[in-house]
Amino acid sequence: MSRALFICFEAEESALVVGCANALGIPFDTLVLTGSGGCGENSLIAGLESVPPADGLAEALVSHVSGYTKIGLVSSMRSKDLAGRLAALLDAAMLTDVISVESADTFHLPMVAGSIVTTATVGGDKLVFTFRPSNFPKDVSASAGQTEQISLAPSARTQRTKAAARSGGRPDLSQAKIVVTGGRPLKDAATFESVLGGLADKLGAAVGATRAAVDSGIAANELQVGQTGKIVAPDLYIAAGVSGSTQHMAGIKDSKIIVAINTDADAPIFESADFGLVQDLFTALPEIQAAAKGT
Ligand SMILES: Cc1cc2nc3c(=O)[nH]c(=O)nc-3n(C[C@H](O)[C@H](O)[C@H](O)COP(=O)(O)OP(=O)(O)OC[C@H]3O[C@@H](n4cnc5c(N)ncnc54)[C@H](O)[C@@H]3O)c2cc1C
Repeated sequence: MSRALFICFEAEESALVVGCANALGIPFDTLVLTGSGGCGENSLIAGLESVPPADGLAEALVSHVSGYTKIGLVSSMRSKDLAGRLAALLDAAMLTDVISVESADTFHLPMVAGSIVTTATVGGDKLVFTFRPSNFPKDVSASAGQTEQISLAPSARTQRTKAAARSGGRPDLSQAKIVVTGGRPLKDAATFESVLGGLADKLGAAVGATRAAVDSGIAANELQVGQTGKIVAPDLYIAAGVSGSTQHMAGIKDSKIIVAINTDADAPIFESADFGLVQDLFTALPEIQAAAKGT
């Protein structure tokens, strides 16, 4: 019988899986790695203190997930790291970044930086997939029918030696409701932080950057938004000094409202922006920050 399992790195992720699980239309359980909670008929609680490296975790998970026909994870770098290893160990098919479900075997996913949506029909009896939660309804009230503690003992073949903390306790880019992103004109890290960071903190927003800003050392790598960075889907995306390359737009096209601030009225980003301001960002952002009510 077809049955799905959604692996959640943290308990909070379970609110994001319900929409996708309902679209699959088959019974589902969750497996929560850290924290407690979950949703579906059963929630398997691993109770880990932190998420271990993907290689040992995948091996430890195999016996718990092998009875399921569909194994889903919220799209992120770490979920793709785990999903690939799990699919190999289970000899399963794998899809990443599913944006909608046609049936339990047919899925839609973006390709070529989001310019094509492809339909994939999966053969075989097992699929491991990641999905973009912003494309599915969220349900924060979801809870599990039954919870069960499971024992997971990931091997220690790979050890994490250093973890860099996210700056300033700002919201996570992929989950944030507001994102303020800066491009190459922000000049250097200090200017980026003072001009963009100040506005972000006033709005309770996450900070993002273009690849040009990251490559120039203006912003940290983990802030990159786009095809080779993070995919975001906030209610409000403010892009300051961002040209609007196809690679950048691939990461923001699910944003509800895009505001672009650019000195060049012909910048490509204005083609996709809901609101555009042709102005120097060093004038516009401090004015917006002063006028913003704050959170
Ligand atoms: C395979 C590949 C993958 C890539 N992946 C990504 C990705 O994931 N994310 C990404 O962002 N890019 C990605 N890129 C790079 C992408 O092609 C662009 O080079 C990059 O997005 C440009 O960044 P930018 O808009 O900051 O810089 P620029 O192209 O230099 O644009 C700066 C913009 O700021 C405006 N401006 C200048 N001064 C001011 C000012 N004072 N006030 C207001 N506006 C001003 C200019 O008019 C211009 O439009 C990728 C490229 C390749 C080839």
